[in-house]
Amino acid sequence: MDTFSHALWGKALFGYRKYLYLPILFGAAPDLIPFIPNLIYKLINGNFSYGKPSIESIPGWVFVTYDFSHSLITGISLVLILYFFEKKDLAFAALAWPFHTFVDSVSHSKEFFATKIFWPISDYQFDGVSWGRPEVWFTNLILLIIIFYYRRRTPLIISWTPMLSKLFKRKKS
Ligand SMILES: [Zn+2]
Repeated sequence: MDTFSHALWGKALFGYRKYLYLPILFGAAPDLIPFIPNLIYKLINGNFSYGKPSIESIPGWVFVTYDFSHSLITGISLVLILYFFEKKDLAFAALAWPFHTFVDSVSHSKEFFATKIFWPISDYQFDGVSWGRPEVWFTNLILLIIIFYYRRRTPLIISWTPMLSKLFKRKKS
C-alpha cells in the first residue's frame, strides 16, 4: 500500500488511546526507513525522478532495509519490547508497524516489493494483489473513510446542530 494510506491506517486503528499521532509515524515507518535514505541518495546523485522506479535502478541496500523494516519479526519485536518495559500504551501505538506488514503482504504482488514477512528466517513471500489496481486502492480508501467516520466523536448529522450535539454527544470511552 502507499505510505500515506499506511499512516492513516495507523491513526485509524491505533491512534485513539494515549498516543494520538505517534501511530501515524509507526504506520509509515517501514516505508520511511528504506525510502527516505534512498530519496536522499538519489538527490545527491542527481537522478531523482517522479513515479514508480524500475527495479534495476534501486540500490541493493534499499532491498535489505526494506526487508528488515517490513518483517513481522521486526514489528512484533518492537511491540513486545515496549510491552515488556511496561510501555503498554506505546506498545499499542506501535501495533501500527506490524499492521503495515500485514497490509503490504496482501497488497504487493511478487513483481514489485513483495513482503518477506518472516525475514531473515525465511524468504517466503505472499503473492498479493497490487495496491496500484484501482479496485484495491479504492477499497482501501473506502475502508479508511468508514473507520474514521465510525471513530468520530459525534454523529455527523447531529454535530451540525449545536443543541442536538450537546444532547447526543457520545460518551468518551
Ligand atoms: Zn510498506
